[in-house]
Amino acid sequence: MPATLFISDLHLSGERPEISERFFEFLRTQASRAAALYVLGDLFEYWIGDDELDAAGGDPLARRVADALGELSRRGVGVAFMHGNRDFLVARRFCDASGARLLADPAVEKVAGVRTLLMHGDTLCTDDHDYQAWRSTARSHAWQQEFLAKPLAERRSTLQALRERSKEVVGAKPAEIMDVSDAAVLEALRLHGLTRLVHGHTHRPARHVLEVDGQRCERWVLPDWYERGGYLAVDETGPRLIGF
Ligand code: MN
Repeated sequence: MPATLFISDLHLSGERPEISERFFEFLRTQASRAAALYVLGDLFEYWIGDDELDAAGGDPLARRVADALGELSRRGVGVAFMHGNRDFLVARRFCDASGARLLADPAVEKVAGVRTLLMHGDTLCTDDHDYQAWRSTARSHAWQQEFLAKPLAERRSTLQALRERSKEVVGAKPAEIMDVSDAAVLEALRLHGLTRLVHGHTHRPARHVLEVDGQRCERWVLPDWYERGGYLAVDETGPRLIGF
């Protein structure tokens, strides 16, 4: 049985063309032989609205990515997309163009026969109070409506400024605050009554084994693509982290 593949945190942008090329290569090779492809957020370094897909004024890379995913889904590989903290404004038009099914965060999906909890991972970083406050603002309908009403160029410069500020803030934070909180992981698994969790966001690829109410659980963390990249492959024998 072909494996189901999971990727996240590619942070695709025109500034790192080699990563984009690796992604297109991955879609042509490993992903084209997969049962399905799940993108668990932060596919893009940032996404300021689906008009990035416009032929005029939009981002050519955004169109290439949507087209390449669209080709994969037309070949019969189901593509699912979950928002990350960078690309939470991905909406209907991107999903239509790429053939991707938009997942809620969290989502529960049957993967190789196992009901699996899928998350981007940022909601698990509950010790990062500033970030969680910003997240609830940015996910509100009011903020999004106001932001998306601005011209594309203005949104681009607003975002650039936010990114600069976020770099400073993130650099000043202790590393453990930026990781998931054990309590939040426990609570998520307990709430859904599941034993397998897959998420990204922290850029700390690993397999963690933990016990929840006497049940052995697994938490799989996806790799980012800043330097090397990789993916999680899940088949009936279980998940495997594969680096490039
Ligand atoms: Mn993220």
